[in-house]
Amino acid sequence: MSPTSSPPEDRPATGEAVDAAPAPSNPGAALGRPRIGLLGGTFDPPHVGHVAIAQACRDELGLDRLLLVVANDPWQKAPVRRVTPAEDRYAMVVAAAEGLRGVEASRVEIDRGGPSYTVDTVEQLAADARRLHQPAPQLFVVVGADLVPTLETWHRYRELQRQVTLVVVPRPHAPAPAGPEGWHWVELEGPRLDVSSSEVRALLEAGKPVDGLVPEPVMRCIRRRHLYAVGR
Ligand code: ATP
Repeated sequence: MSPTSSPPEDRPATGEAVDAAPAPSNPGAALGRPRIGLLGGTFDPPHVGHVAIAQACRDELGLDRLLLVVANDPWQKAPVRRVTPAEDRYAMVVAAAEGLRGVEASRVEIDRGGPSYTVDTVEQLAADARRLHQPAPQLFVVVGADLVPTLETWHRYRELQRQVTLVVVPRPHAPAPAGPEGWHWVELEGPRLDVSSSEVRALLEAGKPVDGLVPEPVMRCIRRRHLYAVGR
């Protein structure tokens, strides 16, 4: 991993991989600024790949908190396929985070309503800290390598670039992450798990087993709520 030495708002974006020391030698941490990672997604359903990258980010970046941010309205996916209701996806993400130190399900985008834009979430977290007179968090937005080519389609992406460090996680079948232009970014040498929500959905809907692909608490939630035609 190439970690970041100072938070993006302290200097202009370069578009190059930058240094990021883990928490103990991190200047932001010394100033009491919490390091918060945001792994946003549709989580339809959450799978072991999400859990593995959340844990890897927490550990390798020395994060105080890693938020699994459940998209209310995943505007890039919703027109293409049927998306499971947000409250069901949130319940599954709560189950996925069960027992994981420093990893939390976040319903901030569900509570805000409307289309889910990461820049709004980032600004909301910063505003919440100001309102509570807490130090501004250092924010890390985690994306799989498959999302890197879409970054410029993100809402107000240039404003987002100025406020966060992008963390790119390699993903099987996705091109190796090239330096996304204009971002402070780091590449995480995380786990490479060949699993996707689409694959899990397809297996579940076909009544096939998903052993090893979905954490057991998530599977229990799926059964309880009869999602993906399970138990019907
Ligand atoms: P779908 O198959 O429905 O498109 P998905 O498996 O990509 O879903 P999302 O909830 O859309 O899951 O993903 C949220 C984030 O997690 C995205 O940044 C995505 O790139 C990343 N991600 C998901 N699965 C993996 C994986 N196996 N390895 C690395 N990153 C992943």
